[in-house]
Amino acid sequence: MNVHAHMDGRLVLGFLDERALSAQPIHYWVAHEHLLGSNEALSQAVHSAQAEGRTLDTYLVQQWYDEHIAGHAFRQMQGMSDGMARLFGGLMESLREADQQSADFQGELHANIAELGHVQDPAALQEVAQNLLKAAMTANVHSRSLQKSLEKTEQEARQLRAELDAHRKQAMTDPLTGLLNRRGMAHEMGRWFADGAVATTGMAMLVLDIDHFKRINDDYGHAVGDVVIRRVAEVFGSVVPEAAMTARFGGEEFVVLVPQTTSQQAMGLAERIRQTIEKMRLVRRQDRQVIAPFTISVGLAMRSVSDTLETLFERADQALYQAKSGGRNRVVASQPAA
Ligand code: GH3
Ligand code: MG
Ligand code: MG
Repeated sequence: MNVHAHMDGRLVLGFLDERALSAQPIHYWVAHEHLLGSNEALSQAVHSAQAEGRTLDTYLVQQWYDEHIAGHAFRQMQGMSDGMARLFGGLMESLREADQQSADFQGELHANIAELGHVQDPAALQEVAQNLLKAAMTANVHSRSLQKSLEKTEQEARQLRAELDAHRKQAMTDPLTGLLNRRGMAHEMGRWFADGAVATTGMAMLVLDIDHFKRINDDYGHAVGDVVIRRVAEVFGSVVPEAAMTARFGGEEFVVLVPQTTSQQAMGLAERIRQTIEKMRLVRRQDRQVIAPFTISVGLAMRSVSDTLETLFERADQALYQAKSGGRNRVVASQPAA
């Protein structure tokens, strides 16, 4: 969570409580940021929703999070890029200066060496040598201070880059599951569709959707719904190969992109995920209530050479739709293009 000014947690919890919102991290974060009053766009959105009498439910809050907090992080990142540009501007100037100084030094050397050719007496020779020594010493001092400023710049650049990476990661991560969010999916998975980044064939996409998820929310409440989403995400973590990328691109909808696989292997993976989730048993800790088993449906498509991220997703999503209309709790593979 952001490091911010202090804010009494009870205020935040009170705000959530009045609106029947659970104290899950995104709710908390949004309420915290709103009450702190430091995020104008967010507070404006909250005020106008309240003025319109809209219910502040979890989806609205989630949307605000995406627009005003994750988006904010992206803008902050932009600001840091500007800082970085300034830093490198300064570095270039130092280098130009150094160039000028070493040019001066070279000029001095040339003049003095030329002088050496027609000096006759030792006193004059000594003077030339002294001049050379002086010039060499100045150059040395300059290059040492230049080196210091280079080191400092480098250190600042390294720190900035680390901050930048942290922000970028945060803006692409779904806070509930730690998976890529929609933005991260477009960005990271998109990279695998850029020219020649990875082999275009032998790549599978799975689109997965929890079956009748609304019932889980209705029967046990949204907090349990969120736990279910998190548990499903954990299954991906344990079953999906390390080289694969996994995203939560909607409420209870996920995408797994698997490189270097065959359609049989991908089918096997999808089945393994489906069966693992089917067998999962959850018990609500506070009252030992057993949560009814739940299932997922999976659509699978193999990437063809002409596929973009979007066209591959479309086919996998169509296969998912067939899995749903075919009765759910199943994997359907998209028919390969003839
Ligand atoms: P189907 O088998 O056809 O997929 O039915 P479904 O009920 O799972 O599908 P639908 O897409 O109609 O409903 C998904 C619901 O998920 C809608 C919304 O109430 C809920 N939802 C979306 N995001 C979240 C979330 O982050 N947490 C919780 N608890 N519920 C969410
Ligand atoms: Mg859905
Ligand atoms: Mg669903």
